[in-house]
Amino acid sequence: MPSTMKAAVLHAYGQPLQIEQLPVPVVGPGQLLVKVAACGVCHTDLHAIDGDWPVKATLPLVPGHEGVGTVVAVGAGVTNIREGDRVGVPWLYSACGHCEYCYTGWETLCHSQQNTGYSVQGSYADYVLADANYVGKIPDSLSFLDAAPILCAGVTVYKGLKETEVRPGEWVVISGIGGLGHLAVQYAKAMGMHVVAVDISDDKLQLAKAVGADLVINAAEEDAVAIVHDQIDGAQGVLVTAVSRSAFAQGVAMLRRHGTLALVGLPPGDFDLNIFDVTLNRKTIRGSIVGTRQDLVESMALAAEGKVKVHYHTERLEAINKVLNDLKAGRVDGRIVLDMQ
Ligand code: NAD
Ligand code: ZN
Ligand code: ZN
Repeated sequence: MPSTMKAAVLHAYGQPLQIEQLPVPVVGPGQLLVKVAACGVCHTDLHAIDGDWPVKATLPLVPGHEGVGTVVAVGAGVTNIREGDRVGVPWLYSACGHCEYCYTGWETLCHSQQNTGYSVQGSYADYVLADANYVGKIPDSLSFLDAAPILCAGVTVYKGLKETEVRPGEWVVISGIGGLGHLAVQYAKAMGMHVVAVDISDDKLQLAKAVGADLVINAAEEDAVAIVHDQIDGAQGVLVTAVSRSAFAQGVAMLRRHGTLALVGLPPGDFDLNIFDVTLNRKTIRGSIVGTRQDLVESMALAAEGKVKVHYHTERLEAINKVLNDLKAGRVDGRIVLDMQ
């Protein structure tokens, strides 16, 4: 094993990442060392880098929470994972295991959680540490490149769709057809839903059509709320992945009576709710944050079955600042996956 590794490091919010040599981390008890084969680039990494959110990332930071690879060292006490296993290191790096949230299958709400590429170092590097109790296993039939974006984008929208409580044969609107949204369209179809895709770019909507959306709407050019009510009488559920505040109020307005909106996109700030609309129409509005370990198993299985396929382009770690600029400008189609091999 080499003693140093290449990594992309953030030293100050809003600054470009620096490609540096860092020591290869050493496994402690309960931990794994993973040789990173691929890592997806999530819009959350941009929020981390820009210091967008009230709780900020720990600096200096190696971002990246869609890392997958091979276990090359196993710490003391680990019994569930072996050297050579193919794993992914999700956003939920670890949780306490003993609180009311951990006990009730809501480990994603644990107050003591650590987050990969945010509070602890992530996978924009040749090697990454992981907690053996929180890694995802990669099915043999999935390549590392195909699997990486499931670690965050896939599991997040799969969970978010469950949170809309839309049933087979009902309608869901997916607002925002980026890395998360293009997978959401496919998970929704696999779950038997009818899908409306909304974005502000025709390229993204073309991708939505190609992966199965029943109806597409360009919200920059058309009155998306009016079209959803005219054509399908409003949707039973809406999943907002858009990085735009205006998409949230629009999402509430697209709901049919008794419908549920799940908030997943995380642009900083607030949005206005019309009290009369929400109350009289008995609408439900709830947040949704990534997914549990079981959600990850389920979302990974649907990808392994071929029901969900990531649309991606690969880049090298050295190109990370260009990738981040393209993502910020809305120029990324599907996902960019860093190929680390
Ligand atoms: P992305 O940049 O790949 O996609 C965002 C999409 O939103 C783009 O296609 C863009 O064109 C579209 N968009 C922008 N404005 C819009 C509007 N007004 N209406 C409709 N669409 C619009 O980003 P991503 O990686 O898919 O991440 C999306 C968001 O989800 C980010 O804010 C990210 O931090 C957040 N996220 C949340 C969770 C969670 O657990 N809640 C997990 C992962 C990511
Ligand atoms: Zn993410
Ligand atoms: Zn806990």
